[in-house]
Amino acid sequence: MTISFDRAYAEQQDREDPLAELRAEFDIPCRKNGSPVVYLCGHSLGLQPKAARRILNEELDAWSELAVDAHFDSKRPWVSYHEQLTPSLARLAGARPSEVVAMNSLTVNLHLMLVSFYRPAGARRKILIERRAFSSDRYAVRSHVAQRGIDPAAAVIEIEPPRAEGTFHTDDICELIARDAKEIALVLLPGVQYLTGQCFDMERIAATARKHACVVGFDLAHAIGNIPLHLHDWDVDFAVWCGYKYLNGGPGAIGGCFVHERHARAFHLPRFAGWWGHDKRSRFSMPDEFVPLAGAEGWQISNPAVFAAAPLLASFELFDRTGIDALRAKSIRLTGYLELLLRAWLEESVEIVTPSAIEARGCQLSLRLKKSRDEARAIHERLSRLGYICDWRDPDIIRVAPVPLYNGFVDVWSFADALKRLCTAA
Ligand SMILES: *Cc1c(COP(=O)(O)O)cnc(C)c1O
Repeated sequence: MTISFDRAYAEQQDREDPLAELRAEFDIPCRKNGSPVVYLCGHSLGLQPKAARRILNEELDAWSELAVDAHFDSKRPWVSYHEQLTPSLARLAGARPSEVVAMNSLTVNLHLMLVSFYRPAGARRKILIERRAFSSDRYAVRSHVAQRGIDPAAAVIEIEPPRAEGTFHTDDICELIARDAKEIALVLLPGVQYLTGQCFDMERIAATARKHACVVGFDLAHAIGNIPLHLHDWDVDFAVWCGYKYLNGGPGAIGGCFVHERHARAFHLPRFAGWWGHDKRSRFSMPDEFVPLAGAEGWQISNPAVFAAAPLLASFELFDRTGIDALRAKSIRLTGYLELLLRAWLEESVEIVTPSAIEARGCQLSLRLKKSRDEARAIHERLSRLGYICDWRDPDIIRVAPVPLYNGFVDVWSFADALKRLCTAA
């Protein structure tokens, strides 16, 4: 079927999409009139997999029927609850199972990784981040540096893209790393940037950092579950993520960490210890001496948050059934279709901030309306009221993410059509 701009084309694409049936596995919020919203906000909070409720209920039942015994004797023993997430996380991260662990939330994990992997020494004291890094990452890095007695103003380098709110060229990042490497202890960048939707060339950045003996870590909040990752092969030192965006784990879902195999037994590195990072064999005999587990699990502190992990089991079943490569293939088509419609209909009124190159973006497109900020905000509010769920990020960005697990071509078409009407009416 040749591409056309009418709704029938989108409907046809959905009919022919072998992954379309996955949508029925999710609860989609409804408008007041009972019709489902067009949900394009999975970059902020993924939708609820229907099976999440059953699994959560089973854990509530285990609590009421078994109480303390559920730690060891229930269908999914709580003591090792997080281990059930490991195989799927390893697949999504492109990692060996021993390199990943589900624990905590993203910013907490970032602090834990900084404890071990920010090792200022001699002239190498700086952390390279980007100027537009997510607020929490900046706060974490700056406060972390400060509590070591180091002045963040001197130790945190913030790289900026060529133009405000613009996107980066990998060459610039790599040149900067090469140029200042002797002063850089750690390179900490996003996999996919939360505001612009730009996907960083993690492989090249990691290779450059490693070549110059800088430690390299990535924040994968917007990358995991969105694009295929190969953290082990890319030779990344560590990575952190949250569980509620593309992983669909629900609010406050358990996040995760990747620690490369070469650090599995880096017991000389400082780390914040807790009993859950201690050797499983002697954890409950509670010896005086802390004996860290090898691998990523050795960075755990507390026992796993079972209710924050349970919904991820439902989501991972869908990821495992489908595979990230098939999801990515659909994602490329969906986002490409969104871009095509916006360019055809709204060239005059919408700037697409996200790069056009497929390898430089995930599913999200960040849009800037060529209108006053107030008019743009009003259009976003009208979209929301009409049931087109995307979000606004200051200063002037509308983020829209068609997620291949639960969005289809008709969602994309309807959104672009609604935006077209609002932009021409305004
Ligand atoms: C969503 C997000 C976070 C969230 O941090 P939490 O600690 O999980 O609340 C952090 N960093 C980035 C880049 C994010 O997109």
